[in-house]
Amino acid sequence: MNEIRREPLLGRWVAVLSESLKPEEYSSGAGPTEGGHCRLCGTEAGEPVEIYSVRDGSGNWLVKVVPAMVPVFTPEGDLGRKGIGIYDKMNAIGVNELLVESPRHDTPPEDIGPDQMFSVIAAFHARMLELEKDARIRHIMLHKNCGSPSGDTLGHPHSLITATPVIPKRVKEELDGAKLYFEYKERCIFCDIMREEERLKDRLVLETPHFLVFCPYAARFPFEFWVLPRRHNCSFRDVNEEEMRDLSETLSTMFKKLRRLLNDPPYNYVLHTAPSRIPRRNHWHTLGEDFHWHIEVMPRIKSIGSFELGSGMYTLTTSPEDAAKYLKEVSHGD
Ligand SMILES: [Zn+2]
Ligand SMILES: [Zn+2]
Ligand SMILES: [Zn+2]
Repeated sequence: MNEIRREPLLGRWVAVLSESLKPEEYSSGAGPTEGGHCRLCGTEAGEPVEIYSVRDGSGNWLVKVVPAMVPVFTPEGDLGRKGIGIYDKMNAIGVNELLVESPRHDTPPEDIGPDQMFSVIAAFHARMLELEKDARIRHIMLHKNCGSPSGDTLGHPHSLITATPVIPKRVKEELDGAKLYFEYKERCIFCDIMREEERLKDRLVLETPHFLVFCPYAARFPFEFWVLPRRHNCSFRDVNEEEMRDLSETLSTMFKKLRRLLNDPPYNYVLHTAPSRIPRRNHWHTLGEDFHWHIEVMPRIKSIGSFELGSGMYTLTTSPEDAAKYLKEVSHGD
């Protein structure tokens, strides 16, 4: 079984495969669309087991969730926490799923339309409610690689659902930062950031009834933007249908703007939400008040170099204020 190891200096968890890839396998380039067959297009028998789907009136699938081809995390087994000398490890218990966003292989995410986007968001929501019932799962993330430099290997539009038995470091840092801010001010930092961005307006990109889109004050990537729900809510599990409809419109608009402005750039996005509170019900009293779910969209138009890797410090070659102006002004129409 694959395992996850805790790096003792920084507390970062890393997954280690039980069967190592050989050096030559890193350059073989064998992909799932080999021979013109795309596994995600399929509807015939023998295609991947369907975990969840949204179907139209005639029974054809619109969105479906299938297991990842090479899952790092598996749902069978126990956590098997172990200490080896100073090191900690556990079994890679969890879930890797692919959320297939459209039956059409060549439709990019920005063109699937708000209704289809709604089905994608609703499918993730349904999976989240289901996965959170497993007491071994601590965190669930929806994330996406779009275009090859972002890590996209399948071609067919899809996003990924990863459920892990630990809170990943990047999420933990956000949770700790939000908790610390709340301890001082007794206010949610994300609600405060939204108020400030609405007051200053120079980094605002889009205001909708339920969401605010802006370029963060100190982003990591040029043209990075965040989508924050106006209603304070720590977990995506509590989102309502009206908010999901609005989010679908908002994301469709923003992805079209991104394509037009940066000539179809590769990008990643992540949905950050509160960890599951089922395993440790009384562990974190202020979580409901101090954290606020959100989406971060990171265009990958500038490579990460030695300085970023070595320091964790980034250089913004376009300021967030200018990026917001460009994103605001560019049309999302066809
Ligand atoms: Zn396909
Ligand atoms: Zn808030
Ligand atoms: Zn975040």
